Amino acid sequence: MRAMQIQFLGGATTVTGSQFLVTTERATVLVDCGMFQGSPNESIRNRIPFAYDPAKVDAVVLTHAHLDHCGLLPLLVKHGYAGVIHATSGTAELATLVLLDSGHLHEEFAKREARWERRHPDRAAADDRQQAEAYQAAVDLAASGGSEEAAVETSDAPKGSVATATTTAASMTATAGSVAPAVSQPGPPSEPGEHVETTIEPEPPHTWPTDPETEMRNMPPMLDIDLDEPLYTVKDAQATLEHFRPIDYDQEREIAPGVFATFLDAGHILGSAIIRLRVVEHDGGPETVLVCSGDLGRPGTPIIRDPTYLTAADYVLCESTYGGREHEPQDEAIRILAETIRLVADAGGVLLVPSFAIGRTQEVVWELDRLIEQGKIPSLPLYLDSPMASKASDVYRRHSEYFDEETAQLLRDGDTPLDYPGQIITNDVRDSQAIEHAPRPYMIVASNGMLTGGRVVGHLRHLIDDPNATILFVGYQGEGTLGSHLQAGATTVKLDGQVRQVRCKVRSISGFSAHADESELLDWLGRFAAGKRPGDPGYPRRVFLVHGDPEAQLALEPKVRTLGFATHVPHWHETVTLD
Ligand SMILES: [Zn+2]
Repeated sequence: MRAMQIQFLGGATTVTGSQFLVTTERATVLVDCGMFQGSPNESIRNRIPFAYDPAKVDAVVLTHAHLDHCGLLPLLVKHGYAGVIHATSGTAELATLVLLDSGHLHEEFAKREARWERRHPDRAAADDRQQAEAYQAAVDLAASGGSEEAAVETSDAPKGSVATATTTAASMTATAGSVAPAVSQPGPPSEPGEHVETTIEPEPPHTWPTDPETEMRNMPPMLDIDLDEPLYTVKDAQATLEHFRPIDYDQEREIAPGVFATFLDAGHILGSAIIRLRVVEHDGGPETVLVCSGDLGRPGTPIIRDPTYLTAADYVLCESTYGGREHEPQDEAIRILAETIRLVADAGGVLLVPSFAIGRTQEVVWELDRLIEQGKIPSLPLYLDSPMASKASDVYRRHSEYFDEETAQLLRDGDTPLDYPGQIITNDVRDSQAIEHAPRPYMIVASNGMLTGGRVVGHLRHLIDDPNATILFVGYQGEGTLGSHLQAGATTVKLDGQVRQVRCKVRSISGFSAHADESELLDWLGRFAAGKRPGDPGYPRRVFLVHGDPEAQLALEPKVRTLGFATHVPHWHETVTLD
């Protein structure tokens, strides 16, 4: 007999790479299989072999379609996973867009990188060395998470809850062709779902506590570097799609022997879910309830419903992206949006909104449609310049069953709340390029959200030194990105290798976030304790903080304890035994 365990294979002391392996006496279930995004030393983790045999996993449950939750599913299938991927149909449809696009980008990136290496053989060698070192550091880090005998601090645990964490050696073996030349990481760290290409920075030495002997034992036999291999291809992504089996919200399904899953609306993006796993080790025996928050949305987000509040669980995996931070009120966000549009209209200028294709673009269009209905903004033409966003909007339109009451009412009234009157959708690249000749004033919403690539960069070239242009940021700007430099008030930026003067106006709105802020996270968690005492049935024995950077988790953890919960912040590759 073995106790139930969770191994934290991603989203552990970082936001991205969501992947949790739940092992019971009778089954092995994987919650999410996401891509690591952001800095190169994090994204190299995508190249680390799975810590388990994918062929032996009984079921996969997917919280939502953002790349940092679903992005490694093609690798899982490629390495032998033959079972079902359970997800809402909204998630399955959005994940189709995301995974095919990701496969395509990885193929393109590998090709481009190979060309670059042929042209710069001297620099390529150094680049490869750096890659190999980064890979080795990640392997070591994973192995140390797996080899350290760590008893979790339990002094804070309520009486009767002795959750000990032991970590077992992760089977780390390098597979052939396991390292690609460079790291193309679609997606920003905190507001994922987009494509970001990062350049390789020197790898800082990792400071994880390691045991040299264990490191040696876990060393891969040999690093086989294939410079041309993409992480996965469009074909791999296509093969993955056949494994999806849609599940409705609030319907319990036995996904593996003794494991019953229920998907509850997480209010994050269309189709997003909080997943409740009810584990019954013996028929008729006691059950353990594990709740995985996935990414939690905010109450009041347009179009989709508010996050579901749950009131009972034995263990909770709670996201912590915005630990220690509060969002600006949504009313203020909308006020700034309207004001900016009026200023652009008065100046006869151009408004450029860099936006994430899934979720944010649909919300912005929804808000613009409301503002125009209410007569708060003049009617400017709106160019929607992102094929990915257009396809995502189609998925949104197909799933009115997921809409909140406000949007459902608008539909009943004959409104088209997901469309802005007079919007111009540009799928063709030539149409995109022609926008610069359009009569002013007008607005453009284009991907990607952090100006790290995509069509938005083309528009920026024309607008950066135009005093009548305004760039309006509506999302998180990753550290070191062009977006973050502009946001910080840079007067010059490097664009296409050239230094350019910033003469356009730059404004930011922080109130459009797809993630709960700290108060909202605490409110969500607090419902588990309401009317109960530690030790009561349904009172969580432990709350694991996941999907957060260490800083955010450090800020959030004491406040979660104040609610009365025992907490634990798992390391990457740590295994925790649930008693
Ligand atoms: Zn997400």
